Amino acid sequence: MVAPAASHGRWHTHSASVMGTQASLTFWHTDDKTASLVIQAVFDEFRRIDHTYSPYKASSLLSHVNRQASHRPQVIDEEFVRLVDKSLYFSRMTEGAFDVTYASLGWRYDYRQGQQPSETERLALLPAINFRWVALDPQSATIKFLHANVRIDLGGVAKGYAVDQAVRILKRLGVTNASVSAGGDSRLLGAKRGKPWIVGIKHPRSEKADEAVIHLPLTDTAISTSGDYERYFIDAQSGERVHHIINPKTGRPTETVSSVTILGPQGFDTDPMSTSVFVMGIKKGLALVNRLEGFDAIIIDRQGKVFYSDGLIEPH
Ligand code: AMP
Ligand code: MG
Repeated sequence: MVAPAASHGRWHTHSASVMGTQASLTFWHTDDKTASLVIQAVFDEFRRIDHTYSPYKASSLLSHVNRQASHRPQVIDEEFVRLVDKSLYFSRMTEGAFDVTYASLGWRYDYRQGQQPSETERLALLPAINFRWVALDPQSATIKFLHANVRIDLGGVAKGYAVDQAVRILKRLGVTNASVSAGGDSRLLGAKRGKPWIVGIKHPRSEKADEAVIHLPLTDTAISTSGDYERYFIDAQSGERVHHIINPKTGRPTETVSSVTILGPQGFDTDPMSTSVFVMGIKKGLALVNRLEGFDAIIIDRQGKVFYSDGLIEPH
């Protein structure tokens, strides 16, 4: 007797190093051939985003804009416009806590080499940090910088956008259950074997890799975490933790919290919001999140104390 043909659905998983971080994808599919196409399409998209917006690649469109936009308006495309427009929207909403021109000075930090700008350099480049120097014209799709030393870096928004793009591809190819992440930015699609996905928030100071302090059961959500443990070095002289989230007012790494997680509908918002709340700190950050419909936050301060937005606190 021949056994009846079963539908061989199974979980597929793939990870790779891209966009300066580790990206991974897990999803359910009944057809192995289509599943390979899914992996190919998602990771091609991640590589495209990396090539277009990496500040570390001289050939990226972003690097080109950074070289030219203080001289004359640069023609970009609709996607680039949307990324900058979203960033400027967050700058206005956070009164400049989120500011992609942080890179005007931020590019002088090298976390791998343990280097930071000198005091002279900080004071010289600080005036160039101001989102108002970015003149974006969505109609003509052009960008111009109104100050000679301006540089932008979309590192606070591009990974969230990338996981949203991945979800678009997954849905188009018929995937209904998936988890996709790029560094601290993830999206969950549907459930995992009928149960929620369990996403862990890392202990900011754990010696053990990937030790989680909080586990969240999630479906159909975006979740972004910003942490001062992601990219940092300890300054030999001061003993200070020099990390990658910069206070635009001082040009120095922020000093209030160690981890911010934001939950919301899409990575395009949760990513810049996690970076924003990180800069704003507990009080102002939670006030912002509580004011917005559809978002929640979990903040861990430098002493390890955990703070939740109103939506996560059960009423008594
Ligand atoms: P995230 O990975 O979302 O935590 O964001 C951190 C990244 O955002 C950094 O690696 C920088 O590329 C960028 N960034 C740092 N400080 C700021 C800031 N104040 N506003 C906007 N982007 C920032
Ligand atoms: Mg973020």
